[in-house]
Amino acid sequence: MSKLKISVVLLFCLFACKPRNKQKNSKFTVVTTTTMITDLLQNIGGEAIEVKGIMGPGVDPHLYKASEGDVAKLTQADLIVYNGLHLEGKLVDVFEKMNQIGRETVALGGLLTEKQIINSEAFVSAHDPHIWFSIDNWKKITKELIVFLSKLNPQNKAVYQKNGAKYIEHLNALQQEVKTKVEELPKENRILVTAHDAFSYFGKEFNFEVLGLQGLSTTTEAGVRDVQRLSNLIIQREIKAIFVESSVPQRTVKALQASVESKGKEVKIGGELFSDALGNTNEETGNYIGMFRYNVNTIVNALK
Ligand SMILES: [Zn+2]
Repeated sequence: MSKLKISVVLLFCLFACKPRNKQKNSKFTVVTTTTMITDLLQNIGGEAIEVKGIMGPGVDPHLYKASEGDVAKLTQADLIVYNGLHLEGKLVDVFEKMNQIGRETVALGGLLTEKQIINSEAFVSAHDPHIWFSIDNWKKITKELIVFLSKLNPQNKAVYQKNGAKYIEHLNALQQEVKTKVEELPKENRILVTAHDAFSYFGKEFNFEVLGLQGLSTTTEAGVRDVQRLSNLIIQREIKAIFVESSVPQRTVKALQASVESKGKEVKIGGELFSDALGNTNEETGNYIGMFRYNVNTIVNALK
């Protein structure tokens, strides 16, 4: 959406949209960007808050542009939660506008320490934005959000603390489960080749070498040289499988597979990973924990 359009919608909303917090008994409303963040806020807030996610399953946050309906939602939010670190690269102007009109916003990247963020020159912000693929990071973010929400909306403090503590327990169990699953894979097989570099945090936490085709953002297409370099590497290192992603078109990974085959070797597509968006809400991959478990099972089973 153009800046002019955003301004027009904002102006309209300032005069015409339902004012915030004016209705008695209305729930504290949090507007979120990606499906991972929507799921996290639903887990912490439960029935006490209303969470409105603007991106659905399969949506690529690097490329997502705000609709007029999104801007109206954001304008009426009690709190806006987004990933930051330039993940939502096309929404930066919208978040700035929201700050200007006094909306409360929090970027999850800002809740982590420098040490918890992977630096990478390959991205606009010089930081890798895919922070949710470290379970340690997701736990830290959960803890910080409990504190943040309790200050901003003290009447629900007990709910945030109780739900948040329970969710951290689930994340601890997930982390243990992932470690055990990864142990099934010999160290030399722990090489992950995917459509774009979303898995560096996963690689760091669970000892995988990670090679992505498109660089950190999906806004840059994989070049022919990139495909050649990676296909040589796949042959050299005898990598059994490469992976497509639910929110990235499959053509670059298919091109990589074709390149390996053109050299007389074979590599299989190991399955579809959920990287920058969760699956449908009624499916096992429709929440963060289910998505993580599904990805790890897919990766380990294909690379064994
Ligand atoms: Zn990404």
